Amino acid sequence: MFQKILIANRGEIALRVLRACKELGIQTVVVHSTADSDAMHVRLADESVCIGPPPSRESYLNIHQIVAACEITGADAVHPGYGFLSENAKFADILAAHNITFIGPSGDHIRIMGDKIEAKRTAKRLGIPVVPGSDGAISDDKEAKRVAAEIGYPVIIKASAGGGGRGMKVAHTEADLEVALATAKSEAGAAFGDDAVYIEKYLEKPRHIEVQVFGDGAGRGVHFGERDCSLQRRHQKVWEEANSPALNAEERSRIGGICAKAIADLGYSGAGTIEFLYENGEFYFIEMNTRLQVEHPVTEAITGIDLVHEQIRVASGGGLSVRQEDIKFNGHAIECRINAEDPRTFTPSPGTITHFHTPGGLGIRVDSGVYSGYKIPPYYDSLIGKLIVHGRNRVECMMRLRRALDEFVVDGIKTTLPLFRDLVGNPDIANGDYDIHWLEKYLAKGE
Ligand code: ADP
Repeated sequence: MFQKILIANRGEIALRVLRACKELGIQTVVVHSTADSDAMHVRLADESVCIGPPPSRESYLNIHQIVAACEITGADAVHPGYGFLSENAKFADILAAHNITFIGPSGDHIRIMGDKIEAKRTAKRLGIPVVPGSDGAISDDKEAKRVAAEIGYPVIIKASAGGGGRGMKVAHTEADLEVALATAKSEAGAAFGDDAVYIEKYLEKPRHIEVQVFGDGAGRGVHFGERDCSLQRRHQKVWEEANSPALNAEERSRIGGICAKAIADLGYSGAGTIEFLYENGEFYFIEMNTRLQVEHPVTEAITGIDLVHEQIRVASGGGLSVRQEDIKFNGHAIECRINAEDPRTFTPSPGTITHFHTPGGLGIRVDSGVYSGYKIPPYYDSLIGKLIVHGRNRVECMMRLRRALDEFVVDGIKTTLPLFRDLVGNPDIANGDYDIHWLEKYLAKGE
């Protein structure tokens, strides 16, 4: 087992990882920018190293400084959290070259999944269902027209190097296709320095359903069921649930089994998420994230398994603590992402939190790094906390969520809490009846 883990992140996820290390009796080092000297994870860590000024590029993304911090403190492993360097293959390779363990998959696996065309090819080869479309990058308009006619309109053009929902264009007819292709290519070139694009069938009313997987790096793979993250705004997840209100046990075990086998065959190590669009009973792979997700706590709530403990165990060579048959799904969990943003316009609202009171009671978990008197720096993501609620079934979970939202107090700044108080009373949400466009339509109506 590791002696000392360096946490290369900030905010709630840095605290989340720190808690797991403390439970396992592992010493902790955190790195932070000058803007985060007062952060909770800095206060609670055994050691902290200031690695640079506020801009992420000069601190949380500064590989050189982070490696130096490992060497100074004698850390033998790094947990990257999510975002920042968590899916940076070069970072994983550099740590390996310094004999420091990256708590995550190999640089090669990160690289494969980071290229969307390569990821899709690999998924297909491993028996994962994919969206019908071109076999790789599109070379010219003629090929695009041929593929689109074959799979049928509407189609979506996506950047191979894409991310964050950028570089995607939908074409409803052949007349739209040329313009969509040219726009997608130039956007991709400008945003990612790579104008390779590919074509897929555009699904009109899918849900976003993702499967949590784990590999032990030695040919064993398991799945921890799925999360439904269909409630999104600008491709950003807002509310996540486990299990999905749309799946039955048979579908869960079928798609979970396919994913677990793929992970085993790939020889993958650590946590991963295989993301799908789901429509009319069919799953279509869109991408794989090779890290821990923001929404991992809903899976922890229904399985009772600490996924960060598992990441640390696997990375240290201790293997997974569970077999597939040990993983049981108990009840229902929902997570609300609480952002320091205006609940209607979503403009960021940094500033000082004058009062912070979190809900409690059975089935309530709040993961947050903020506290009364904390000043939110303007430089980073606006996520200030996550409310995770568990119940024996979805009805009980929703009852408890409504009560917990009423109890939650954040004064001094604007937050997205009022949005969740509206959503929890909405009949479509109560029925679990929503797709990936539901939230945008709801917000557009301004109800
Ligand atoms: P990114 O890496 O940029 O986030 P993804 O491939 O994960 O790109 O897609 C992001 C979102 O775009 C999906 O969650 C979905 O809302 C939409 N999308 C992607 N592919 C399709 C498709 N074939 N049909 C319909 N919507 C799609």
